This record gives sequence, structure tokens and C-alpha cells, in this order.
Amino acid sequence: MADLRGGIDLGGTKIQTAIVDARGDVVAQARRPTPTSGGPEDVAAAMAEALRAAAQEAGAGTETLAGVGVGSPGDANEKTGVVSSAKNLPGWEGSFPLAETLRQALGTEVRVGNDVQVATEAEFQLGAGQEFRSLIGVFWGTGVGGGLVLDGKPWLGRGTAGEIGHMVVKRGGAKCPCGRRGCLEAYAGRSAMEAEARRQYEEGQKTDLFVLMEKHGKPRLTSGIWERALKHGDNLAEKLIERAIEALGTGIASAVNLLDPEAVIIGGGLGVRFGERLMDPLMAEMDKHLFLDERPPAIRVASLGDLGGAIGASLLVSR
Ligand SMILES: [Zn+2]
Repeated sequence: MADLRGGIDLGGTKIQTAIVDARGDVVAQARRPTPTSGGPEDVAAAMAEALRAAAQEAGAGTETLAGVGVGSPGDANEKTGVVSSAKNLPGWEGSFPLAETLRQALGTEVRVGNDVQVATEAEFQLGAGQEFRSLIGVFWGTGVGGGLVLDGKPWLGRGTAGEIGHMVVKRGGAKCPCGRRGCLEAYAGRSAMEAEARRQYEEGQKTDLFVLMEKHGKPRLTSGIWERALKHGDNLAEKLIERAIEALGTGIASAVNLLDPEAVIIGGGLGVRFGERLMDPLMAEMDKHLFLDERPPAIRVASLGDLGGAIGASLLVSR
């Protein structure tokens, strides 16, 4: 059993766990909602419970696993296993020793890493990026996250590299959820897009976006709601998606000008849903800003789906 590893993808709404074998294949998985109240201890307890359920399905005790990796939001320190300011999780403004807490609960070694970085590494090793030596992962969802693999190795900078969502695409531009102005995420992040849609709707702009949201019983404008609105030819939805693509093309092209990677992998809820069909407009937007536009990088849609984060987390065990 020692070649089985655990992976936990800690998200703002769900905890996805997987048991992964030495080849990177998922042999069992379990998912739980992320606690919305309490504090880091409660989140850690739910994570341990979800991983135990996956291990049980694989016929293994958690203590027999070679280790467990966690892809975490916030500032996840790989060296210390401490996670700080995971602000979309309950009561997690400060620092919490997540790796140590889970090690005691699960009886095996635990490593933590940044959620988007580990998902990028999963695509590099096992998914859409396997044929490349250097790539940028762009995860287009609630926010816009990024990860880097350069010359075959993860690039973490001093620990927090890859924040492509906070590249400035318009100086003094729209307010970003991070509090600054003009970031890529302020135009392309799902929550920023929703805030802008609501603002325009309240000003009298016609749109079916919020009608569809109610009709399908969703608490927010999910990527599925955006897709339905586009199918209806909803003007506001079209305008805001176009604006997002413009910002993504600008931000990604700037990052490409700096790093010259072989490929860009587009993942995340919106990225996976819209990546293929918006590929041409995205490349056209990038093309406007690429310094060497005769040799653009390959653009691929992430291929590991919902489990990519958990699989990537499991890879931390062998790092
Ligand atoms: Zn920002």
C-alpha cells in the first residue's frame, strides 16, 4: 500500500480528496462541503474526514499512505506546512499549522502547497502539459489563479509566484477583489464579473443572467449560467465575457513576453467550460500584445478536470 498517496484540494465551497497510485491514477475519491462557519480546526477536521472516506473506499487506512498532499488557497508555506490568510475560508485570517494538524489526525506525513500551483504541476506531469518543459497555468474561475513550471521545475519564487490574476491590465482600472485596481481578475474573475453584471442590471441594463440564476436555484452566476445566457444571445453576458477575454489575452501575453514559455494551460471552471470555443478570440487578443507574435506559445485546455487539484496535491508527497 505504500505506493498510494492522498491528495486534498481545499476549495472555498468543497473539499475534494483522492487516493492516487504511483502512476498518478485515481483509485478512490470523496468530496465534502467546506465548512462555512467555525475556524481552521473545523476545516481541518472536515478535510481529515473526507480523506478517510476516500482511503476507506480504496481499502487502505490513512496511516498506510506514503503521504498526503494538500492544495490550499491563501499563503501556503511548503517548508513549514503553515497556511496563512486563506480569506475565503471561515476564520482563517491568521496562520494555522495545517500540515501538522492533519499529520496527527491521519497518521502519515502531510505537505501543503498552493492550490493553483499544484493543479498546474498535475497538468504538467499527467495532463494537457505533458509534452512541454515550460508552461504557465491559468485557472479562470471565481478568481484568476496562476502556476508556473520553468525548465521542468515548479517555480514558486519566494513562495507566492504565479499570481497572474493580479497582473495589471489597465492602470487605474476596475476595482479588484484584492482591493487594488486594474488587475486581470477585476475583469475576468467570476465574482468580479458577477458584481459588474449586477451593477449594470441595477442600472437598468437588460439581461437574463439573474433570471436564469433564480430559475436554476443557484446562489451565484456559475459558469453554467453564463453558458446558458450566451446561448440565449444575452447582450450583457456577451459583453462581459468579451471583456474578460480581452483582459485574459492582455495579461497572459504580458506574462508570455516575460517568460517565453512553450505553452499556456487554461483551466478553472470558466476556463474548462469556455476554453475551446473562446480559443480563437483569446489568441487574437494575445496576439495584439505579444512582442514576438510570429512564435506564440501553444494554448491548451486543462485535461484533468475536477480532480486535477487533488491529483496535483498528491504529487507534493514525492517532491
Ligand atoms: Zn487584484
